[in-house]
Amino acid sequence: MMTMEDRDGFIWMDGEWLDWRDAKIHVLTHTLHYGMGAFEGVRAYETENGPAIFRLDDHTNRLFNSTKILGMKIPFSVESLNQAQREVVVKNNLKSAYIRPMCFYGSGSLGLRADDLKVHTIVAAWEWPSYMSPEVFEEGIKVKISSYIRERGNLVSRSKVNGNYVKSMMALKEALKEGYDEALLLDTKNFISEGSGENLFAIKDDQLFTPNLEASLDGITRKAIISLAEELGLKVNILDLTEEDILSSEELFFTGTAAEVVPITQVNKTKIGSGKRGKITEILQKNYFDQVRGKRTSFSEWHTLVS
Ligand code: PMP
Repeated sequence: MMTMEDRDGFIWMDGEWLDWRDAKIHVLTHTLHYGMGAFEGVRAYETENGPAIFRLDDHTNRLFNSTKILGMKIPFSVESLNQAQREVVVKNNLKSAYIRPMCFYGSGSLGLRADDLKVHTIVAAWEWPSYMSPEVFEEGIKVKISSYIRERGNLVSRSKVNGNYVKSMMALKEALKEGYDEALLLDTKNFISEGSGENLFAIKDDQLFTPNLEASLDGITRKAIISLAEELGLKVNILDLTEEDILSSEELFFTGTAAEVVPITQVNKTKIGSGKRGKITEILQKNYFDQVRGKRTSFSEWHTLVS
């Protein structure tokens, strides 16, 4: 089996290009023990003009925001991290790619004060076609309302911080174990938050509804879907949603860089709408897929060619 370690290629680390297999750290690396770090998940898609990174600036800015909340200072500029993300696609000869920037503390010491620790930054990229199996884009997925809860109003829990993903993974594991495809978490006030790695949208009466950002990540796919919906003249409501709102919606879908746009056809034991991918979901999904592949003329500013 090809592991994440044993591959050909190059990984950017702290300003240098390392051979893939040499991009290693010590077992006493601080972030490995306590999860204090931040990362991004970015995609580059094959377009007519070559690989193009989707909303690169938004991703890099979010990485800087996540680290700022943690009090970690990235010793690189936005522009140099953007350049590393463009170059990582080129250097690894990728036509399309999943790009993973990450910032973590080094092995200077293991104390929780974490003062004077070096902040390391990596950028890796590989081909990661679809996070979910291809048929789910049409057939949709079943989600379970999780017993895991996201903290509302907490800046850390709504950032892309490494340690948050313990909860995401536990929620996903619980859902999978019970025969579902994904988890949907509630927040500490019982409002709908998000999936393990996706934002949620509901549709009713030709309007979109999505939770506000009190307890969910400021998703970049979410932002793109809001623009694509508004382009179609659809109203997008950003507000607190209850479990009831979700169960009575006509259509439901998840958004995320890795997951892309995935219809949800069942929540717990309840079928959503017709139990099939909804009409508006289908249109937004198509527009999203066309957009990321540079097949639309609108929003050209969202694409950054890698070379
Ligand atoms: N919520 C969580 C918890 C996530 O990990 C992700 C994936 N980054 C998302 C939402 C979706 O965000 P984006 O569209 O920016 O990938």
